[in-house]
Amino acid sequence: MGKPTGFIEYHREVPADVPPTERIANWNEFHIHMPEEGLRTQGARCMDCGIPFCHTGKLISGMASGCPVNNLIPEWNDLVYRGLWREALDRLHKTNNFPEFTGRVCPAPCEGSCTLGIIEPPVAIKTIECAIVDKGWEEGWINPNPPAFRSGKKVAVVGSGPAGLACADQLNKAGHTVTVFERADRIGGLLLYGIPNMKLDKREVVERRVRLMEDNGIEFKTGVDIGKNLDAGRLLQDFEATVLCTGATKPRDLPIPGREFSGVHFAMEFLTENTRFFLDHGAPGESRPPIDAKGKHVVVIGGGDTGTDCVGTSLRHGCASVTQLEILPKPPLDRAKDNPWPEWPKVYKMDYGQEEAAAVQGQDPRQYEVTAKRFIAGPDGNLEGVEIVNIRWEKDDQGRFVPRDIEGTLRVIPAQLVLLAMGFLGPEDRLLEALKIDRDPRSNAKAEHEKYTTNIPGVFAAGDCRRGQSLVVWAINEGRGAAREVDRFLMGSTQLP
Ligand SMILES: Cc1cc2nc3c(=O)[nH]c(=O)nc-3n(C[C@H](O)[C@H](O)[C@H](O)COP(=O)(O)OP(=O)(O)OC[C@H]3O[C@@H](n4cnc5c(N)ncnc54)[C@H](O)[C@@H]3O)c2cc1C
Ligand code: SF4
Repeated sequence: MGKPTGFIEYHREVPADVPPTERIANWNEFHIHMPEEGLRTQGARCMDCGIPFCHTGKLISGMASGCPVNNLIPEWNDLVYRGLWREALDRLHKTNNFPEFTGRVCPAPCEGSCTLGIIEPPVAIKTIECAIVDKGWEEGWINPNPPAFRSGKKVAVVGSGPAGLACADQLNKAGHTVTVFERADRIGGLLLYGIPNMKLDKREVVERRVRLMEDNGIEFKTGVDIGKNLDAGRLLQDFEATVLCTGATKPRDLPIPGREFSGVHFAMEFLTENTRFFLDHGAPGESRPPIDAKGKHVVVIGGGDTGTDCVGTSLRHGCASVTQLEILPKPPLDRAKDNPWPEWPKVYKMDYGQEEAAAVQGQDPRQYEVTAKRFIAGPDGNLEGVEIVNIRWEKDDQGRFVPRDIEGTLRVIPAQLVLLAMGFLGPEDRLLEALKIDRDPRSNAKAEHEKYTTNIPGVFAAGDCRRGQSLVVWAINEGRGAAREVDRFLMGSTQLP
């Protein structure tokens, strides 16, 4: 522990962001780096607790408490405090293949379970993680390091999101020959075509890591949809093991009257096409992305992260207004009694998209305990509005909470673009059916966490296709774990962590 009294002397500080009204004029990342001295001071706040809950990664009440990849947080906090950045980077890479992704987009369950958080704002763990790895890239400490030995075993990884990438990286380190198949035209899964550029830069951050993996000997094949333009059975013949990391991309629909009107889209259609447009053509100017929010009143249905990304993207398009509807109640400002430390704090927060909307429109764009009843269009079938109603949650005969409409609150809000961001229902069926993979009750590929073996020998499943739509950090955890089990399967034993 660097400074025993650090947590008393110093207060939490995180780097400033580019002001919301400035950053919505472009698609650049908006986090500003903190000077080194400030980072060392933040590292000094870590108490190096006897039981550091920050790195446990346990599920408590169904939510992650602590870091799911078990980052050795107190160790690298101390190294940063002492200015030993290179050693901090090595310690960070022991547990996390891609700290530059998590350092930017992780919701930081580590901070929710930081012991200091009981009495003071927690240690700025995510900021320090990001600074360590960004410095590593800047200083040229992260370089190709192909394995010295090749096992002669071939492994196919299907899907190039964080689970597939982490799995491929680990298997390659163990000396196996890895091919990653991706149906999209670029590598990265939701790191690339889900999370928008202003949260995670595609060229500078995602593609830089993919290039390093290529230099380390991993083969990437894009535009290959396994089960469609390449027979799934062939993988099983050509490779000694196959790992499915295909994500949970089936969106939840809203089958209310008017769903068919032009102007109602799934959030992922909007976000994916926007990023593709941005990478192919640059920021929208004269030419516009296929689904364009410019000049439109936008209604985003769903209050989660995907919805937030739709809000931020719509504002950058130059929408006339953006409203976000959430069916659940507004969370409390502080932890409720039944949500104690070290659980994930279920409290109200303004994410980047809401901050931006508030700066432009004067208030948080979210309306809570509201649901949409029908979409309204003009004679041409183009969307004009959404009929919404306030609800309250009441118990039904069986004691379950159900939403009930509040009389007199029915109203129409203008909308030329509606984005459905209501979560995901699990993995797509085609590939799992082609390979005859058993499913769990939530339709995910059936495989135990920490084991990852499916009912088909030699076929493993990891990431969102196994656990349902989750977080980048969980996908990395699962990809690493699946690699360990594949290595054991191929070699009889494993030294992978
Ligand atoms: C809009 C959005 C924003 C998000 N923001 C955050 C965030 O800020 N922080 C966070 O931690 N998490 C966030 N998440 C969640 C996170 O991105 C996912 O949990 C994570 O990417 C899952 O990783 P994965 O590798 O399992 O799957 P994915 O990232 O979904 O990758 C699966 C890949 O498999 C490919 N594929 C599927 N089927 C086939 C096939 N048959 N053949 C070839 N390829 C195939 C897909 O094209 C895709 O590229 C967000 C999710 C969304 C949708
Ligand atoms: S990966 Fe996420 S949970 Fe783990 S240390 Fe980084 S921010 Fe915290």
